[in-house]
Amino acid sequence: MTATDPRPPARRGPARKIPGVVSGLAVTFRTMLQGAVTVQYPHEREDPPPRARGVIALKEENCTVCMLCARSCPDWCIYIEGHKEQRPPRREGGRPRTVSVLDRFDIDYALCMYCGICVEVCPFDALFWSPEYEYSEFRIARLLHDKEQLGVWMATVPEPEPLEPGAEVKGRK
Ligand code: SF4
Ligand code: SF4
Repeated sequence: MTATDPRPPARRGPARKIPGVVSGLAVTFRTMLQGAVTVQYPHEREDPPPRARGVIALKEENCTVCMLCARSCPDWCIYIEGHKEQRPPRREGGRPRTVSVLDRFDIDYALCMYCGICVEVCPFDALFWSPEYEYSEFRIARLLHDKEQLGVWMATVPEPEPLEPGAEVKGRK
């Protein structure tokens, strides 16, 4: 004994699919006639917000080789090397100073997840966000930016926002 289809004949077989196909095609053609709603990069470029996290810039002269950023990075993608040097005393009769000199400061943007922890933890204002984002590469190894390249990004770091009037007065006390 074969089971019978309880639906009316008009809703059985290929005939019932035709209205669905037609309405689906109508949606397709309507959408085709609309213009593109997304930005057609690289033919069109939008300006990112000034505080966008595009790339990290290094102000080398502020870096004391304290390693705090490298130790805080959850991806372990900051590589720092340095050495100690003796410098003359600041004042006559003083003791010679020992300073840390930065030899290597690399960030591997193939690993970085742009969390911003390194920028936040740096106690010496050596790291800054730049909104620059056009640094994709064909070879992944080239996403390792050395201190020279990280220094170049400093030119793209926007000026800091002015302090609120109350904050300025409080800071001078
Ligand atoms: S943004 Fe985050 S993941 Fe990238 S280098 Fe800094 S701490 Fe590491
Ligand atoms: S935390 Fe700042 S000062 Fe310390 S190593 Fe990193 S960039 Fe240099």
